[in-house]
Amino acid sequence: ATQPYDDSNIFAKILRGELPCNKVYEDEHALAFHDINPMAPVHILVIPKGGYVSWDDFSERASDAEIAGFTRAVGKVARDGAMVTQGYRLLANIGKRAGQEVGHLHVHIFGGQPLGPMLA
Ligand code: 5GP
Repeated sequence: ATQPYDDSNIFAKILRGELPCNKVYEDEHALAFHDINPMAPVHILVIPKGGYVSWDDFSERASDAEIAGFTRAVGKVARDGAMVTQGYRLLANIGKRAGQEVGHLHVHIFGGQPLGPMLA
């Protein structure tokens, strides 16, 4: 179980247009934008538009269309960013003990350099 969704988080504000972002991709179910503090030459965040804190919450409550849309958006961002040949890494920190800072589910996409062992 995870904490209840709180729509005062930063990514909810970005989704509502209350805060700016450097947008990479958007469709009905997902928004992708550059991380404000990149940890690799390419560091993009992909978020579902619905209010979900975690992967476990999303996978339980989201519709099949939302899950498919979000999953396809992650792949689309990777293809459009020409990361497919170079390799890229997906990461989702879930829960405070895993380092999740923003309480809206997000997948990090890292690329643009050899990635080596797992990022801490
Ligand atoms: P987490 O630690 O929750 O997995 O990742 C949160 C990420 O969001 C961090 O990499 C952080 O740099 C990024 N971030 C935090 N606030 C903002 C913001 O206002 N705009 C953008 N674009 N990224 C943010």
